Amino acid sequence: MKISRFKKSHKTLVYFANNFDYREPYQVLIDATFCQAALQHKIGIEEQIRKYFQCNVKLLTTQCIILEAEALGAPLTGATTIVKQFHVHKCGHEGKPVAAAECIKSMTKDNRYIVASQDRLLQGSLRKIPGRCLLYLHKATPVLEAPSAASKKMVQKRAKNLMLGKQVDKIEYMKEKQGLKATEAPVKRNTTKGPKNPNPLSCKKSKKQKQIPQLHGVQETNIVKAKRKRVKISAHVKAEQLKA
Ligand SMILES: [Zn+2]
Repeated sequence: MKISRFKKSHKTLVYFANNFDYREPYQVLIDATFCQAALQHKIGIEEQIRKYFQCNVKLLTTQCIILEAEALGAPLTGATTIVKQFHVHKCGHEGKPVAAAECIKSMTKDNRYIVASQDRLLQGSLRKIPGRCLLYLHKATPVLEAPSAASKKMVQKRAKNLMLGKQVDKIEYMKEKQGLKATEAPVKRNTTKGPKNPNPLSCKKSKKQKQIPQLHGVQETNIVKAKRKRVKISAHVKAEQLKA
């Protein structure tokens, strides 16, 4: 096997180990379609897979997979013989078998299996679920598929959340730090600048009140009245002043 091919598969395995808890010995769940392809290309599954991974692997299948292969009869006789050689893992469908693809999907829900299958439909549905690892035969060569878009998306999301979590922690830390300074600073502002603050605000409001009435005729008359009242008051004062 070429070194570059090993590097590629090794990189994929490391990715699944790091992000989805796949552990050695890697468990390879094999179905009849994979066995059929191996038979067609005259390769020994166990030998090729061990060579390909160059690490400890466990090859296994389920009762549902065997039963489906048997039910398909003559075209799959060779494949059925091969698939029966692997260790049979309990799948929870004992006594009431389901389709091989359904069985594999349910098996991969809680366990880390590398699914060895040529079933395009099964591959398609497994790719949609993050953390599913696929192995298939490209002619006579095993290929460990690179992580699916769904897997990558989840890993990126996790990394982002982790970063955000760290950022939130940092912000909280900074807030705490600044909070100590911030509590001291406003107290000083309130005591020193407190009385000065209301004046500019009230001045602005009064300016606005004067500016707006100039645009409206109705309110303009009010101002005129107000001015006249002031004039009257001044007249009283004048009268009083005159009396005095
Ligand atoms: Zn099953």
